[in-house]
Amino acid sequence: MNWLTNKVLPKIRKLATAKDTPDNLWVKCPECGQMLFHNDLAANLNVCSHCDHHMRVGPEQRFKALFDDAKYDTIELPEVQIDPLKFRDSKKYLDRLKDARSKTGDRDALIVAHGKLAGNSAVIGVQNFSFMGGSLGMAVGEAIIAGAKLAILQKAPLILFTAAGGARMQEGILSLMQMPRTTVAIQRLKEARLPFIVVLTDPTTGGVTASYAMLGDIQISEPGALICFAGPRVIEETIREKLPEGFQRAEFLLDKGMLDMVVHRQDMKETLARIVDLTSNKLKDKQEVVDTPEITEAVESIPANDTDEAPATSEKD
Ligand SMILES: [Zn+2]
Repeated sequence: MNWLTNKVLPKIRKLATAKDTPDNLWVKCPECGQMLFHNDLAANLNVCSHCDHHMRVGPEQRFKALFDDAKYDTIELPEVQIDPLKFRDSKKYLDRLKDARSKTGDRDALIVAHGKLAGNSAVIGVQNFSFMGGSLGMAVGEAIIAGAKLAILQKAPLILFTAAGGARMQEGILSLMQMPRTTVAIQRLKEARLPFIVVLTDPTTGGVTASYAMLGDIQISEPGALICFAGPRVIEETIREKLPEGFQRAEFLLDKGMLDMVVHRQDMKETLARIVDLTSNKLKDKQEVVDTPEITEAVESIPANDTDEAPATSEKD
């Protein structure tokens, strides 16, 4: 059986899965099937010109489209212990990490940058779905905390673009720990009276929806984005009922009061700039901005990812 599952199955899977298509000149829209010229699509911010489908984009494209003159600095993110649980499913977690790193060129699934947004300082974090489904692990948790710290230091708003399949199961409880840790970091940001703006992109699900993705002072989404805790397929199979059209999509959630705005990618910069400008002016007018060293200290006091102690939690007593 071991021989079958370890040797034969992976080989069959490898044969069965389609090879990654090379960077073609044409991209097929996953929604309407239209063939789109690569350059046209890039110029249109990866939105299909036929059906307006918003395709997934990575941190670099987001930053370039948002920061003034496409100028920004990414920050160095804290190192975390790699593969603390020595996890392995059909593949070693270490190998999955290596693959994701070589595919995206990033260390993990969230990149934080700072720069000017229509003249105002802003810290922007972008979660990359291409990196292991954007999953929330220790590195992503640290990145969000680092982003919040930087925003407090710069007295700037924190804007977070979320995209995730949920928590990174290969890190077990340590990934779930990031839900309260990031929540505390966001709370510190709020205590410093700085705006936290969330832009939910397709798809934002699981533990990410259950933590920082829903804590924004302003909740924005891109059109058509799937936003949920459990996905529609799981719900349908559980309740054995057909779900309504557009269930858990951005427009549906806007209608139900879960979101403040659904914003087209072409209007994203302008919208964010307007919000940042309004809130920044308010900050300038109000002299009573909370003492930042205290808040910074408070953020520092968020318990570290103490992986040395982690195995103790699995021991019984
Ligand atoms: Zn299309």
